[in-house]
Amino acid sequence: MTTQRALRRSVLAAFFVILPMVAWGQTTAIHAGRLIDPETGTEQQDQIILVEEGSIVAVGPNVPVPNGAEEIDLSHLSVLPGLVDAHNHLALTYKKDPENDFYYYTYVQDSTPIRAIQAVSNGIQMLSSGFTIVRDMGNNGNYADTALRVAIEQGWIPGPTIINSGLIIGGMGGQFWPTPEMAREHDIVYPEYLDADTEDEIIKAVRQNILFGAKVIKIMVDAKPYGYSVEEMELFIREAARAGMKVEGHIQTRAGARRAIEAGLWSLAHSEVLDDELHKMMAAKGIWRAGTETPHTEYRGSAEGFDRTVAGLKNAYENGVNLTFSTDADYYVPGMTRGELVIDFLETWKAAGIPAPEILKIMTVNGYACSETLDTRGLIKSGLAADIIAVSGRPLEDIDALRDVQFVMKDGLVFKKDGVVTPEKFFNAGPVNGWRIR
Ligand SMILES: [Zn+2]
Repeated sequence: MTTQRALRRSVLAAFFVILPMVAWGQTTAIHAGRLIDPETGTEQQDQIILVEEGSIVAVGPNVPVPNGAEEIDLSHLSVLPGLVDAHNHLALTYKKDPENDFYYYTYVQDSTPIRAIQAVSNGIQMLSSGFTIVRDMGNNGNYADTALRVAIEQGWIPGPTIINSGLIIGGMGGQFWPTPEMAREHDIVYPEYLDADTEDEIIKAVRQNILFGAKVIKIMVDAKPYGYSVEEMELFIREAARAGMKVEGHIQTRAGARRAIEAGLWSLAHSEVLDDELHKMMAAKGIWRAGTETPHTEYRGSAEGFDRTVAGLKNAYENGVNLTFSTDADYYVPGMTRGELVIDFLETWKAAGIPAPEILKIMTVNGYACSETLDTRGLIKSGLAADIIAVSGRPLEDIDALRDVQFVMKDGLVFKKDGVVTPEKFFNAGPVNGWRIR
């Protein structure tokens, strides 16, 4: 053996000896008073969840707690997996003052850098309310959503797992009616939409979003009279699938929704135009409904609008459509966090007469399925990321128990305890999880 080879061997040996020692030092044992399984709608008393290196390694009543493990006592709480909002815009915050909630002006006034910082804050607010996964579906400036996701994944800041769409792709103009100067020159404000009007442009737009960090593709199906055809949407689906990604469609006309369902999009955003016939078609194809079930509150909505929303949601539920809890939250209500705004959407789900265990399943299991994280994070099961929350009430009986989140663990690190956010372990002065994460 040459000296060099011997040296390499001893370095390798030292490496393998040191690694497990690091792992042993990071074991956490959570004592769960009531452990809720949203998949079955059941709870078990006095369970132990063992967490190592950010992952759940054992769950059960008699799991031995290793010497030196950090112990967390949640014996007085209901412990459950994290919640999912399947439609949010963390880097968009329109306001009554100054823009009268007209978000075209928000784009003019708020730069992408300030919106990325808003996104960090909004993400932390969502995590504090128990949302460990957020699908961040466009209208996020010049890829502020990718910046947020990467910052969280590299380990700079705390936040939910982000499934982001990058720029929403649409026919010229996207969802807006820009002036000729803005539409053609793109030099007044960064366009919130990526124009794609031909097959070549569709392929290029999908590739641009993938290159710039999107994890799901979002398109405007019918915001313009020249909305996408079934064939064009099939092209989107094929091109996205080459990178293992799904396509969500924003719909706002009945004809557009029908084309989107026919093309077989993964999920549909918004639900105003979905009726009994379209719900039956969606159920048959297993298409996710990422509706926008805005509740009627003192700060938003109308009684008539709410009645329509509730009737639509009830019809979707009765037809067995794949439902997600999704809010489209992108506005500021003084005195409320983004998380509090989002959890208020429970009002609509309760008004639709959907039982608490079903609502909880939709907010968790369905959310993981729509986000395609079932194999990596979601349920409290051995081998999955340790994303765990706890509330003092009993959400299987009273879904409003979710309004009082006492404890949040994300990737094995405690983010909130005894109702107080304590995120110091999440803040790092460098990309502790690796700079190559993009
Ligand atoms: Zn939206």
